[in-house]
Amino acid sequence: MEVLRTRQDVLLWRKQEREHDRIGFIPTMGALHNGHISLMKQSLRDNDRSIVSIFVNPTQFGINEDFDKYPRNHSRDIELCKEVGVSAVFLPEIEEMYISRDETNIIPPNILSSGFEGALREGHFSGVLRVVLKFFNIIAPNNAYFGQKDAQQLLIIKKMVSDLFLDINIIGCPIIRDENGLALSSRNAYLDSKSYQEALKIPQSLILAREAVSNGILESFKVEEIIKENLAPLEIDYCKIVDYNLQEISKIKKGHSLLLLALRVGGVRLLDNIWF
Ligand code: AMP
Repeated sequence: MEVLRTRQDVLLWRKQEREHDRIGFIPTMGALHNGHISLMKQSLRDNDRSIVSIFVNPTQFGINEDFDKYPRNHSRDIELCKEVGVSAVFLPEIEEMYISRDETNIIPPNILSSGFEGALREGHFSGVLRVVLKFFNIIAPNNAYFGQKDAQQLLIIKKMVSDLFLDINIIGCPIIRDENGLALSSRNAYLDSKSYQEALKIPQSLILAREAVSNGILESFKVEEIIKENLAPLEIDYCKIVDYNLQEISKIKKGHSLLLLALRVGGVRLLDNIWF
């Protein structure tokens, strides 16, 4: 496995390929866990060569957010990628990705970005799109892999690719959970044991919601209420059923609806969701 540090390194890595090789790309911020590994494994199944980026992207963090304390463990991450079997890891420095302070920005459509994470984290999705587009241009993958866990991000990236006519397939991959059902996240490392126990109410409430839906309860407010009741007294940022344009809907339509949930447990923000 090659460890690439510069755009030039990536270019040379790309030049090694045979004609018709398919390239899979998995963008991450590192502190890798089984969620990231599942994206890598999907890419390995679909492509001839797979490349993981590890980059804690400053432009997607707000000024009061956890950019400085975000968990970083490059040597362990590199070992993990090697074990999983990807062909390359790209770990650029900030200066490699952001050349000047006053750069072109990318604004996602209001309908997808003004609510939910976008309402609580100003500029977050612009930062995400900027870095993802830069990576797409450096790596030029055929396929790129994103978790359904970050549902709003996935929908916004799909929209950018379609609006800007990028020739890249965006593949959404299912949420990977730990043995107790909590969705894996690098930020779970911030949870102490008491908060972790409280956080388990999230998957428990989502299971009850899913059961209700499979028993024929499709009214959004009823399903949202089941979750809110089971999460009490945790501090919920939002718990809403929406369509793929992130517009609220009164009734769940299977294959077209999504429940978005974000809350704080012991000062840690956690996201989870259900794709119905
Ligand atoms: P991050 O390193 O948190 O920016 O995540 C990198 C990619 O991994 C994103 O596409 C995430 O949606 C995805 N991801 C993070 N956690 C999970 C998970 N538990 N299951 C599946 N994908 C995940």
